[in-house]
Amino acid sequence: MHAAPAHPREAERQKALESLEILDTPADAYMDALVRIARDLFKVEWVLISLIDCEQQRIKASCGKPFSATSRSIAFCAHALIDTHRPLIVPDALSDERFASNPLVIEPPYIRFYAGHPLIAPSGLPIGTLCLMHSEPKQLTAQERCRLRDLAQMADGYLKLRSFSEQTRYLRTVISRERRRAMLDPLTQLWNRAALEHFYPIEQAAARRDGERISALFIDLDHFKVVNDQHGHAIGDQVLVETAHRIAMTLRPHDLLLRLGGEEFVVIARIDKAEQLDGIAERIRLAIAEDPFVTANGPVAVTTSIGGAEGDAEEPAESLLQRADTALYQAKHEGRNRVVLALK
Ligand code: GH3
Ligand code: MG
Ligand code: MG
Repeated sequence: MHAAPAHPREAERQKALESLEILDTPADAYMDALVRIARDLFKVEWVLISLIDCEQQRIKASCGKPFSATSRSIAFCAHALIDTHRPLIVPDALSDERFASNPLVIEPPYIRFYAGHPLIAPSGLPIGTLCLMHSEPKQLTAQERCRLRDLAQMADGYLKLRSFSEQTRYLRTVISRERRRAMLDPLTQLWNRAALEHFYPIEQAAARRDGERISALFIDLDHFKVVNDQHGHAIGDQVLVETAHRIAMTLRPHDLLLRLGGEEFVVIARIDKAEQLDGIAERIRLAIAEDPFVTANGPVAVTTSIGGAEGDAEEPAESLLQRADTALYQAKHEGRNRVVLALK
């Protein structure tokens, strides 16, 4: 096995990655959607958006079989950073001397095919890859190579736009990566309860500045205990992860989504008028209820009950969430799979 050579401009490359403020941040609905599209398109077992940190490969989005992050020394993606002009394509790892004795090839997950397109930071330096992997040898057609490049360029463009956003500027100046890591829920990669205390005052300040109101939605899966009982805890976990994706896809980039605990999620959204809240909540309810969740155990139908409240920028988080929770209780009581709003 050949370890990947060090990048010739490693210190600058690491700085370029850090300045995107993408590591130790919540799962990103757009990146999640991109890897899902790639997996459907290329029919491979794993698709990742992988970022190469100093020592580790870090997985920003993944789709397909579970794949654990590895050390940089054995990561295929570390090799893919060396030539930024073209993808690294390994049709059969067992007949490629760089990879034939790599632990990822001769031990689980037994990777045979790899295609990784470098992701390029605005400074021109590579920070990671969009990569496809499969446990059988495989080739990409010329057209498929073009599609892979198109998707990688979309990821590059998105990372660039994201780096100019208000939230990214905030992350860059105010919270360290270590602090962020403590505010992330390991299962869903959403912010956790601790993040609410941190971000709520910031939402209040922004609402005050822009003359907006603040709303909270309390989202609770219906009869989730039955999902665990019928399908097992691992499938329950898959449902929680997919719930997080589906809620995130309905929200605007600056809305705050967090997992409060168990099967309970909270959205904090700044709004102009109280009437907007019903639309946001209904979109979430439908995103969960409309199609069954595809799991390793077959389709699982899930619904949610949602309680919502909204108020002016001065309302403390405890009081806003208390009112949303009371509305949620009413939604459960009235038969579940519904939205109840506590409007002032
Ligand atoms: P309701 O419609 O009244 O909300 O019923 P419910 O079954 O959803 O609510 P209940 O509070 O009785 O059960 C919640 C379940 O969520 C029980 C607990 O085992 C499960 N749960 C909590 N956290 C996790 C987790 O991280 N993973 C999995 N798989 N299950 C979890
Ligand atoms: Mg609950
Ligand atoms: Mg529940």
